[in-house]
Amino acid sequence: MPETKKAAAARAARILQLLDEQYGTDYRCYLNYETPWQLLIAVILSAQCTDARVNIVTEELFKKYPTLTAFAEADLGELEKDIHSIGFYHSKAKNIIACCKRLVEELDGVLPRTLEELTSLAGVGRKTANVIRGNIYHEPSIVVDTHVKRISRKLGLTKEEEPEKIEYDLMKVLPKDHWILWNIHIITLGRTICTARNPKCEECFLKKECPDFERSKIQKEKRRS
Ligand code: SF4
Repeated sequence: MPETKKAAAARAARILQLLDEQYGTDYRCYLNYETPWQLLIAVILSAQCTDARVNIVTEELFKKYPTLTAFAEADLGELEKDIHSIGFYHSKAKNIIACCKRLVEELDGVLPRTLEELTSLAGVGRKTANVIRGNIYHEPSIVVDTHVKRISRKLGLTKEEEPEKIEYDLMKVLPKDHWILWNIHIITLGRTICTARNPKCEECFLKKECPDFERSKIQKEKRRS
């Protein structure tokens, strides 16, 4: 029988409580940065790349380009070389220069706050904009990355494939005060327990609330009988 909206909301609340108990409620970001614009550059670099690799590259990059103006005035070929170990470095370098130029020339170096303004910057999509809104401005926002997509589907909180649709589904079922935390908690879960290749369901503290676990348990039992 399909789950009612009320039952789904109650289950989501139990999931959030378990996540809070397990991981706490402090905000954290896996990308290293000291200023808002450094976070923006790190997030642009992180598309299709691991946070660990981005952190290795930005450690030197932020020393070489210590200001927003330095990035705005960077030579494209040289910046490409600086970030070549990160995928899609040509378009990322181009976008970083264009984005920083606009921030310096039109926005007094201040990152905008709204989704519309942020996504009007070069290289900034909805996911990047939501990272900035959440981490810098603490505006309730749900970041849908690969972990959030995979695990929100497993937990039965969405059936969608497209990140924007997943975001809207999660907005309906999660209270606003957990929108930012959802991404933080789910990344932690996705890196440690609910990994893409080999989820450790038996040791997962969410297994009682996870329809995917129930489904695979039933399938295993069917195979055995
Ligand atoms: S029970 Fe398994 S599938 Fe469900 S969240 Fe935990 S690890 Fe992921």
